[in-house]
Amino acid sequence: MGFCPFHAETRPSFYVNAHKNLFYCHGCERGGDLIRFVELSEHLSFRESLAYLQQHIGVAAESELLDQTAAFYQLELHRHPEAVAYLHQRGFRDPALMEELGVGYAPGGNLRGHLMDLGYSFDLLLRTGLINHQGRDAFCRRVILPCRQQGRAVNLYGRSTGAAFPHRLLPRSKGGLFAWESVGTLSTVILVEGLLDLAALWQAGFRNTTSAIGTHLTPEQWSQLCDQPGRCVYIAFDCDPNQAGQRAARLLAGRLKSAGVRARIVALPPGHDPNSYFAAGATASDFRVCLQQTQSL
Ligand SMILES: [Zn+2]
Repeated sequence: MGFCPFHAETRPSFYVNAHKNLFYCHGCERGGDLIRFVELSEHLSFRESLAYLQQHIGVAAESELLDQTAAFYQLELHRHPEAVAYLHQRGFRDPALMEELGVGYAPGGNLRGHLMDLGYSFDLLLRTGLINHQGRDAFCRRVILPCRQQGRAVNLYGRSTGAAFPHRLLPRSKGGLFAWESVGTLSTVILVEGLLDLAALWQAGFRNTTSAIGTHLTPEQWSQLCDQPGRCVYIAFDCDPNQAGQRAARLLAGRLKSAGVRARIVALPPGHDPNSYFAAGATASDFRVCLQQTQSL
């Protein structure tokens, strides 16, 4: 029982029968089922309401599935010493940080069975991209980091521990900037390409680091980065031999400047990204020197 969402009142007259999935208001005498509720609250036709519900229930189910998957992979990490060794080799030794980031491991071959035992359908697994049409797991021998939005996984990033192509995201939206709930309140932020770069910087104490997961920003990520006037963005992309990271950094810095955001490009020693820089022994003060030596455009 509560206040009716369809008319103003001072005493609750809106009843929901959760058992029968029906509502009724004794004030305005509106009532019906879930579809009727969506028709009234969203001002949609019957058909539009059906589509609306289908979409919302679908999105919620996929998000729940991704959360379950991330939790499963987190447990798997502790069952696979080779994955822990890979993380150590890349400089990650802080279990609390690994836990906070939800770092897991996908050995491959055991996800589908686990999720179907939990009652998830093959179709849903396929739709989220967690398995392919042959039913094989999308992630195999990859360290997994969930991309979360408001605490829920919207995608999973898999970093190959072997010879496979290093980066893999599920074929779905990558969401907004990583951890923007906390980083977005700050006036100085560091933007990196990869989630392992981000983990390395967080571990070194640079908690104002975010990532667009790649050098390309989606429109949503772009508007987040520009949402505070006077913000300063340090772009710390890869300094790879083919210059792709630095070229992308210069383009982005130029765009940011035109949008009124201060941008500075961080130059790491040639061949390094933030993760490899720290893994090779750099300290927080070394990185601070890199930040101080940035060129503004
Ligand atoms: Zn009412």
